[in-house]
Amino acid sequence: MIDVELESVSKRFARSDAAAAVDDVTLTIGAGEFFTLLGPSGCGKTTTLRMVAGFYFPSEGHIRFGGQDVTRLAPNKRDTGMVFQNYALFPHLTVAQNVAYGLKVRRVGRAEAARRVAEALAEVHLDGYGARRIDELSGGQQQRVALARALVIRPRMLLLDEPLSNLDAKLREETRTEIRRIQRESGTTSIYVTHDQAEAMAMSDRIAVMRSGRVQQVGSPREVYHQPANEFVARFIGRSNVLSLPVAAAEATRVEVVLPGGARVWSGAPDGHGLGTGDTALVSARPEYIAVTGPTDPGAIGGRVTAIEFTGMTTHLTVQVDIGGTDTEVTVATVDAPERVGIGDRIGLRLSADRLWVVRP
Ligand code: ATP
Repeated sequence: MIDVELESVSKRFARSDAAAAVDDVTLTIGAGEFFTLLGPSGCGKTTTLRMVAGFYFPSEGHIRFGGQDVTRLAPNKRDTGMVFQNYALFPHLTVAQNVAYGLKVRRVGRAEAARRVAEALAEVHLDGYGARRIDELSGGQQQRVALARALVIRPRMLLLDEPLSNLDAKLREETRTEIRRIQRESGTTSIYVTHDQAEAMAMSDRIAVMRSGRVQQVGSPREVYHQPANEFVARFIGRSNVLSLPVAAAEATRVEVVLPGGARVWSGAPDGHGLGTGDTALVSARPEYIAVTGPTDPGAIGGRVTAIEFTGMTTHLTVQVDIGGTDTEVTVATVDAPERVGIGDRIGLRLSADRLWVVRP
């Protein structure tokens, strides 16, 4: 069931703006879905979310909730709960008063409000914190108060704008798991804004990857990771290598490319890729699906190791390879090769055919 619909939505802040902050965005979000807008700073994520919340009205296009047009409806008539990056809590009120705020505005009775505040605090694991002052809480606790305040009004939709960016790395990971648990339990349709691809991958049912106001791809975390639509998505999600390789043969959903050294390998390709023999394909190869072999391996690309970076779980090798007369850096993530290789060594790189994907420029 579709809950939220954006149809050809654009936002220009000034008539004279050459580029729209949000440019012809069409999206559908299902009931109960956790949907993420992901992209680099300035790509239009927050503007899109603010149009869903009603803080901005689109310059063009339509927004619908449950089939009903809300494009020009005031924010307080939309029944959304919002969580901000800076929490936006009232510092002079207690935790319970902060959480109760939306209920007071909605004229919910005192006893009912007290019961719902206690319930919401329990939901975010802050039972017994009601009487505390906001400045007596840690950043993570404050963020959970903000979440409780959004949830207590039982909104039809939760809108979250980079809610974890003020937390340290460990707390971010803990809190993202918490947010997702609470969202699953309440079944509230949620739109989440982040520039952190790992966070988006870990939390979302589906992700819309944005760039310069435009949606580049919408898909599950697995889809955007393994079948990126274009070079931008491939490089933005994870740390992909995008290689320009000549096409030897092409079929509907796969393309055979020629590696430097002459070996051939098949790569998956999207429907309607339009490539033919003799064309150049852009092939995305994830670092963890490249195997390290010896420099004389005839099925591999030969290259020289220029950097080695130990990250704990894996080791990243930077390898200089010559593709079509151009020096190209390939990143490899490996768990077992480091003992065998050092900087300056010549090695072979074997691409895993079932994990290659043709991307658009
Ligand atoms: P960030 O991750 O940095 O918050 P974002 O992807 O959320 O970025 P937006 O805040 O939506 O991006 O901004 C998109 C574009 O619109 C940017 O070029 C920004 O400068 C511009 N913009 C945003 N808000 C306004 C405003 N109120 N007036 C004019 N321009 C704006």
